[in-house]
Amino acid sequence: MNLTSRRVTRIAFSVIILFVLAQVVWWIMFQNQYIASVTDMTLKEWRNDVLTANELLDLGLSEDMRNELLTRYPHLVFDNDDGRYVLNQAVVSAFVDEQRGSTRMFAYEGPVFIFVVLLGLWIIARSLRTERELKTRQQNFLSAITHEFKTPISTLRLLIETALMRKLSPEKQQDYLRRMAAELSRLEQTSEQVLAAARLEQSQETILEPQEMNSLVQSIVGRARSSLEARGAELRVEYFAGDLPVSIDASAFTVVLNNLLDNAVKYSPDDHKPILLRLDSKDDLVLVEVADQGMGIDEKEMKHVFEQFYRVGSEMTRKTKGVGLGLHLVKSIIEAMNGWVRVEANEPKGSRFTLVLPRRVVLAEADTVVNLGGAS
Ligand code: ADP
Repeated sequence: MNLTSRRVTRIAFSVIILFVLAQVVWWIMFQNQYIASVTDMTLKEWRNDVLTANELLDLGLSEDMRNELLTRYPHLVFDNDDGRYVLNQAVVSAFVDEQRGSTRMFAYEGPVFIFVVLLGLWIIARSLRTERELKTRQQNFLSAITHEFKTPISTLRLLIETALMRKLSPEKQQDYLRRMAAELSRLEQTSEQVLAAARLEQSQETILEPQEMNSLVQSIVGRARSSLEARGAELRVEYFAGDLPVSIDASAFTVVLNNLLDNAVKYSPDDHKPILLRLDSKDDLVLVEVADQGMGIDEKEMKHVFEQFYRVGSEMTRKTKGVGLGLHLVKSIIEAMNGWVRVEANEPKGSRFTLVLPRRVVLAEADTVVNLGGAS
């Protein structure tokens, strides 16, 4: 369906372009021919006028009549040497120049017209393509989200039905409960992401409050570490030797950092999943880096991964769970906190996401001096 509509659009655009080109070429040729024939005809008439004037001269013309003739026919002059009327060469060349000017004007106007039409078509084609890409992404999102909700629900149903059907040993029971808890967390994470995205869409204001980044990250990592490590993460955190005062919404920042950490594990296919979470400070900025050594992101994809519903590859080929909302949330939330996020390739492999936030201006209690440095 999509392919057919794309083909129809392409054919329609080609037909319009061909038609416009043919029309303009024909138009220029027609104008050239028309101008050439008007020039020829006029010059022929003027030559006839010379003949007629000379015939009248032979019949005998008074001085007044001769002057009257010259006023009425400015393309004629009287040649005193020959005593005959001849063509006024100055008028002839001015006329020929004027006709050439018209030809040149059409020769310039034609290409400008083609350029304007092509530019218009290009703008329309680009917006059609963007719309189509968004539609595909929304379809991908729908199928991913259906999968994200359905899979844990059917796993939960299966585990509960099995538990109801037969008596389980205490170990089995523990194992089942652990698996149920994991599936529930997955459901929780997906709904949280969808709700957070919906909230952002309605652009609810973020309330920024003073926080210290080292301790905030420590508390987030404290809560997330065990589940990340259970999935194979080897998480190392490098705190900054000094205070990192920031103004942020702590719960929204938790969503941001959890998303980056979750992705770092999710997109590291090897058994060993080293992840480095590093805090730093540069000038008036606070940096939070999450670097993994996973599959990395293609240079071409880097600028797209923050778009809503964008996932690298297609739903058919992707094996990882997700709905393409995580990084969109990361970007939107961090921007609402006056910061930004960037992604680059990590060494030797993988990717590195850096959150950049402005350092909060701290007023020293004693003398209310503005202290931008903060760190010792
Ligand atoms: P999701 O993970 O739900 O697909 P995200 O918005 O979090 O959505 O990420 C968008 C895409 O960016 C992912 O589908 C993935 O292809 C790519 N990506 C994100 N983080 C990483 C990472 N750490 N390493 C490699 N690819 C990543």
